[in-house]
Amino acid sequence: MSSAQPFSVVADFPGANIAVDRIDGNDIYVHQELRGTHPWWFHWAFRVLNANGRKLNVHFTERIGFPTMGVAVSTDCGATWHWTGPQALFPKEQAKGFSVTVPGGADDIRFAITIPYQQSNLEDFLQEFPQLRCDTLCHSRHGRPVELLRAGRLDGLANYKLYLSSRHHACEAIGTWVLEAIIRAALADTPTGHWFQENVEILAVPFVDKDGVEEGDQGKDRRPHDHNRDYATELYPEIIAIKKLLPTWIGNSSAIALDLHCPYFDGKCSYMVKVGDKKNLDTQRRFVQILERTHSGPGAFLESDHGDWEKGGNIYKNGVQSTLWLSTLPGILLTGTIEVPYAQIRDAVISIPVTRSFGDSIAKALRELWLS
Ligand SMILES: [Zn+2]
Repeated sequence: MSSAQPFSVVADFPGANIAVDRIDGNDIYVHQELRGTHPWWFHWAFRVLNANGRKLNVHFTERIGFPTMGVAVSTDCGATWHWTGPQALFPKEQAKGFSVTVPGGADDIRFAITIPYQQSNLEDFLQEFPQLRCDTLCHSRHGRPVELLRAGRLDGLANYKLYLSSRHHACEAIGTWVLEAIIRAALADTPTGHWFQENVEILAVPFVDKDGVEEGDQGKDRRPHDHNRDYATELYPEIIAIKKLLPTWIGNSSAIALDLHCPYFDGKCSYMVKVGDKKNLDTQRRFVQILERTHSGPGAFLESDHGDWEKGGNIYKNGVQSTLWLSTLPGILLTGTIEVPYAQIRDAVISIPVTRSFGDSIAKALRELWLS
């Protein structure tokens, strides 16, 4: 296609977010929409149509930050993604942005801050594993069904219970890739998988802020507070439903509850956020030590990334987070947030196989903790 033909920049798919300021030749000027997030966050995703063969320069006109591996790119309508690498980013002394040459065959090229995980990805996962049960937790404010997954031993006789959640902050897609990976490991035809199928009942809410995920919101620091600061005030239907369901579901079982997140845009290590009383902190430390052993790489998980355990758990001034609330439930053996970076865990560039390897190691570490 001739480079003289017009191209378009659009944010018309689930999870997309961009405002186009202007287009000048091959130079595109854009900024991310904050949509009520205050003061600032960095999620964005968009596609460019019919720019085949052009070298596009994408300028961000407002404050932005890029992950260490540059920009995530898809030339097959979001089916697969790769990273540009940091060399695509404008040099440090220039305003922020990136340059990409669009391959000749790419009528539709997508750019995003990280590898997205949307409802369509969950539908693929459900199709691959028919034994996964998908119920409805509640309906979101905008009327979407919020998925509640059930897996593992579901006959009521499981020895242990595992609760997983992600997207309390809508933009943190890698958290959901790892959530899926943990469930995958529990369903696998492996010794770890067989043990989970025999011993563990799993409940999971992959998209706590369902509207934010599908509409491409930042979610993080949403005003007046985001979903992960809502466990005292209960503004959002998802949090009301989780708070109603979890105490009964957990009962007095030996339950583990993990909430998956992503750290700041340039984070390069994965870690567990300290929370709760000394009993939970001690168990967190044991789990972190086990996970360091079960996950030597790619993207090693290290206790040394966790600072001083004596300082106690994180307390936020702007509301109660999910894991702090979970830590008060009687049947909880361990709870914590695991932060997984957008683009890179140490030497490992984030990809679907890297998230699966990490999820596999988390499943092994959970088993070891329960049996220790
Ligand atoms: Zn988060």
